[in-house]
Amino acid sequence: MEDCIFCKIINKQIPSEIIYEDDEIIAFKDIQPVAPVHVLVVPKKHISSVMDLKEEDKALIGKIYSVIQKLAVELGVEKEGFRVVTNCGENAGQTVKHIHFHILGGKKLALTM
Ligand code: 5GP
Ligand code: ZN
Repeated sequence: MEDCIFCKIINKQIPSEIIYEDDEIIAFKDIQPVAPVHVLVVPKKHISSVMDLKEEDKALIGKIYSVIQKLAVELGVEKEGFRVVTNCGENAGQTVKHIHFHILGGKKLALTM
């Protein structure tokens, strides 16, 4: 989708530190990390938010969690633990309107609200 920063990363129009890629999913390091490990796992299909997921996206979301599991091991956070975050909408502070899953870890994470 035009003017979507993550679509541009997916199409390699904007550089990023890609750590995983297949035909449906990409994962890259967050440009402004808030934890020692901060990776974004993103479906290549442009879906704006959780509220735009459709029945047909079920398998894709399942695959995203398989990728998250694999990356957690590669990033070395699988034993100490990590957080998976998807912000949806304004109150959650979603800034990029292309659904994504933050993997956060590498330190004890506070639960701030
Ligand atoms: P949100 O606030 O929508 O849940 O998360 C968007 C995330 O995307 C933020 O953590 C932000 O730092 C990251 N981000 C925004 N633009 C870019 C970019 O151009 N490259 C990378 N690697 N991350 C980005
Ligand atoms: Zn997009």
